Amino acid sequence: MPELGKLAATGTLPALGHQLAGLGGCTHPIRLNGHRTEHPINTTTGEIGNAIRSLVSTELPAGNLLTRCNNRRATRCPACAETYRRDTYQLITAGLKGGKGTPERVAEHPRVFATLTAPSFGPVHNRPTNRARCRCGTVHDAACAQLGTPLDPDRYDYESAVLWNAHAGHLWRRFTIHLRREIAKRAGLTQRALADHARVSFAKVAEFQKRGAVHFHAVIRLDGPKGGSSPPPPWATAELLTDAIHTAAHRTHITGPTIDGRTHTFTFGRQTDVRTIRSTDLDGDTELTDQAVAGYIAKYATKGAETTTGALDRPLRFLAELAPMKISEHARRLIRTAWNLGARKDLEHLRLRAWAHMLGFRGHFSTKSRHYSTTLTALRDARAEWRRQQTGDHGTDETTLVLAHWAYAGTGLSPAETWLSASLGRAEQTNRATAREAIREASL
Ligand SMILES: [Zn+2]
Ligand SMILES: [Zn+2]
Repeated sequence: MPELGKLAATGTLPALGHQLAGLGGCTHPIRLNGHRTEHPINTTTGEIGNAIRSLVSTELPAGNLLTRCNNRRATRCPACAETYRRDTYQLITAGLKGGKGTPERVAEHPRVFATLTAPSFGPVHNRPTNRARCRCGTVHDAACAQLGTPLDPDRYDYESAVLWNAHAGHLWRRFTIHLRREIAKRAGLTQRALADHARVSFAKVAEFQKRGAVHFHAVIRLDGPKGGSSPPPPWATAELLTDAIHTAAHRTHITGPTIDGRTHTFTFGRQTDVRTIRSTDLDGDTELTDQAVAGYIAKYATKGAETTTGALDRPLRFLAELAPMKISEHARRLIRTAWNLGARKDLEHLRLRAWAHMLGFRGHFSTKSRHYSTTLTALRDARAEWRRQQTGDHGTDETTLVLAHWAYAGTGLSPAETWLSASLGRAEQTNRATAREAIREASL
């Protein structure tokens, strides 16, 4: 690598390593050109002094300021996805056990873990739990590529499958309205009065099943009128919540577009799984614990449609791009259906071409209601603040004027930077392993 040789010769390699280490392993950083200067302001005269600190991108070892890409997807940036996964875990955990500004008493509120699925669009190859054999007569092993693909592709309802994904976010919102209504009914209250007695909080993730349909996993919690900080009313039990969820999921339906004389309606699948979440402290063998739930949700928050589409994790620009891709025939047909429907003027609002790689789903992967717990932004701010303290950058107060101008200069790392960044990652892993080893030895 000639670039590496040049860097080594000029002695900038350690400095570049230091700059890259600040990215925490991000492999697709955003590169910025520009500068930032800090000037003191005399509080009595208002006079602005000469720069006391300055940062100029061209003087940096990489020639640009590098910032993390913050991509959520594990297939796009493993390091940033891992940060996102950890943040999501903390956020879900805070809503279950308290912490990060959420009171600990939420652990005593009724909480359930619900899974809402899509209906059937035609029989698919599967591994039935009660029978060993799939309908095709085969016993598929867990890694079988046929799993989730239709038994008869020509009769599979691809149009509905894609349109269902495109309406899944809307369907979820409608479900939350029904849920409040069902809870109010069971408490003998009007919907309007419910807000004075209880509040429903939730955090959810969308997951793609192998067949390419989105389903939702959600933590749903019943709080008092002020959210997590107020005790729920005596009638608020996990049983009441479970019952209300089943009815609400069953009642939820929306009318979709009419295509070639066929009016689509969308509902959830018949299998709604609702399980009560217990505290880890009360952990029996078979109970679903808050830790397991947080881990589960966090894991799915870093995935896209890749379980169905393989490596296709970004929008298509032309349908022709699909031809050379190594994806299943099933995924290909789902994507092609989305693309073709995307040409229709009456479906413009669904933006099916832009979201064809997501099989029509354009919703957020993880969302939560305002009262559930902390936010990802709050966690990110806390981390940035911690980093500032570590690097001795104390930020600014009223007596400092900051002038900054940054322009986008591209993404990614050069081959030499990639190599250096990867070797930094390896060194860090070795250090961690050595530390673990030392701890283990010390505790013997
Ligand atoms: Zn990244
Ligand atoms: Zn089969």
